[in-house]
Amino acid sequence: MQNKNQTGFDEALERFVKILKDNDLKYTFQREVILRAIVASDSHFIPEELKLKLSKEYGCPHIGTATIYRTLSLLEEAGIVTSVSFGANGKKYEYGLKAHHDHMICDRCGKMIEFIDEEIENRQKEIAALHGFKIVNHAMQLRGICKECLQEQR
Ligand SMILES: [Zn+2]
Ligand SMILES: [Zn+2]
Repeated sequence: MQNKNQTGFDEALERFVKILKDNDLKYTFQREVILRAIVASDSHFIPEELKLKLSKEYGCPHIGTATIYRTLSLLEEAGIVTSVSFGANGKKYEYGLKAHHDHMICDRCGKMIEFIDEEIENRQKEIAALHGFKIVNHAMQLRGICKECLQEQR
């Protein structure tokens, strides 16, 4: 998957430092490593996958699950990550400062396929305008079963 005009580390850092300050929390080395790993990531991940990445690619095997969960929720509050729940399997996170896109989510394996369709985007704006509604944000999800899981079913 290619990089989609990701907003860089500096803006993410600025937002992160602000939300930490608002919550009387310190900007620690561990939190910085978590932020770096997320800004560099280009896919959707569950907290356990992030933990593995921090250990394998960032040489930080000691960052605990609790720290990761707490940091993710702060990052989400700051808009630096967004999350999508996928049924009973929990939540997947992704870097939130990249270009807008929508998701297809496989209920079997949890795979997320990203897509963007100008016509859908424009129709949403038109429909909102008809209702005098100002869109601040939207998240569209198509739920179903992916190609690979459909093939396994046979
Ligand atoms: Zn699947
Ligand atoms: Zn996505």
